[in-house]
Amino acid sequence: MKVCKFGGTSLADAGQMQKVCSMVEADPQRRIVVVSAPGKRSSTDTKVTDLLIRCGEDVLAGKDGQAARRAVVERFESIERDLGLSSDISRAMDADLSQRQAADRTHRGRYLDALKAAGEDYSARIFAAALTKRGHNATYVNPKDAGMWLSDEFGNARLLPESNAQLARLRDHEGIVVFPGFFGYTRSGSIVTFSRGGSDITGSILAAAVRADIYENFTDVDSVFAADPRLVSGAAAIQEMTYREMRELAYAGFSVLHDEAIIPAFHAGIPICIRNTNRPEAPGTMIVPAHRNMRARVVGIASDAGFCTIYLSKYLMNREIGFGRRVLQMLEEEKLSYEHSPSGIDNMSVILKESGFSAEAEKRVLQRLSGELGVDDAGVERGLALVMIVGEGMRYAVGMAAKATAALAQAGVNIEMMNQGSSEISMMFGVKAADRQQAVRALYQAFFEGRGAAS
Ligand code: ASP
Repeated sequence: MKVCKFGGTSLADAGQMQKVCSMVEADPQRRIVVVSAPGKRSSTDTKVTDLLIRCGEDVLAGKDGQAARRAVVERFESIERDLGLSSDISRAMDADLSQRQAADRTHRGRYLDALKAAGEDYSARIFAAALTKRGHNATYVNPKDAGMWLSDEFGNARLLPESNAQLARLRDHEGIVVFPGFFGYTRSGSIVTFSRGGSDITGSILAAAVRADIYENFTDVDSVFAADPRLVSGAAAIQEMTYREMRELAYAGFSVLHDEAIIPAFHAGIPICIRNTNRPEAPGTMIVPAHRNMRARVVGIASDAGFCTIYLSKYLMNREIGFGRRVLQMLEEEKLSYEHSPSGIDNMSVILKESGFSAEAEKRVLQRLSGELGVDDAGVERGLALVMIVGEGMRYAVGMAAKATAALAQAGVNIEMMNQGSSEISMMFGVKAADRQQAVRALYQAFFEGRGAAS
């Protein structure tokens, strides 16, 4: 049995939905289909999820929110019409959305999640109707009825482990199950969503719960590429990678699969295949527990901008037991999540996402560092990018760091920070955001176009 998930561009309009119907028909093992909300039809289009967020934000800002609601309903109306379905579902959606807009607004996250989730919900209802029209026994299954219980972290939920036993029963469901991705319910009955792109997580959770043979994740690219093709044109396709490699690369900026989607399939030992809805003949990328061939030393180079570093120094820091804990505790008190923390004898750096670190928070943290922790010097450097080289085979190869640093030096990229060793399968460099593309290109040339070290 296969669980397959189709992303937003695969369901962006009726033509795409028909394509997905054919893909499901092509393989009777595809018995659980997880769907996203309709995505962009062109580069200038807006994703339904973004329109739904506007539906909520407009109301929160005191507007009536009708224009955004109309835009969403019209997207679904046109899909229904072009599929030759009656407009029952989009009509029901209009009424349901206005109820969601009129709901209690005291908790912003909960209010917005209820609206955001409607995109996947109605996409699944329409897709099930499309399959039924084509003569299949297809059923829309609501996450509440299936027992998809999530934590009450609105906009960033996690699965509650007790869900698994209930979700496992989907295995015995007759016909094709069409399941909306991205959301579930809290124990008290509120709708709650995963973080953005979270339909991938739903698919992985279901694949694990029903012990599927494979989790097929259909998207709009042929495979995962060894570097972002927007940064390195002609980057090589990756045929096979391990869960750990994918998790590290996804975390560091590979957006093909949500980084939290790997763990459920990994724990259940279910391979993940990334495939293209628009080119089903392309083999895609297989994500597996271990490489059959350990020759592949570096599988990919990921990068992401938008980081900053808090650097601090204090003489004899090495002898002050608990200093690191106090720094991190202060960040916790400021509700700041940190990404990495390299340290030296008298220095420590903490890397954070810039988006969550406001100028006021920066001022407070710097004051507290000198006032409460007595640091000699502290500052913040913004505008950093992280570049990560990932590969299981790096563990066994000598000279990888030398090769990477030489490549960066040759390209004139200054390394602001380096972290090797905290993960044995990756090496991370902090560079100025302006140097990001240059850094990725230089590393790609060294590891993939050099003297065969990478492949
Ligand atoms: N529709 C949601 C989003 O845009 C979830 C998803 O597509 O996976 O984030």
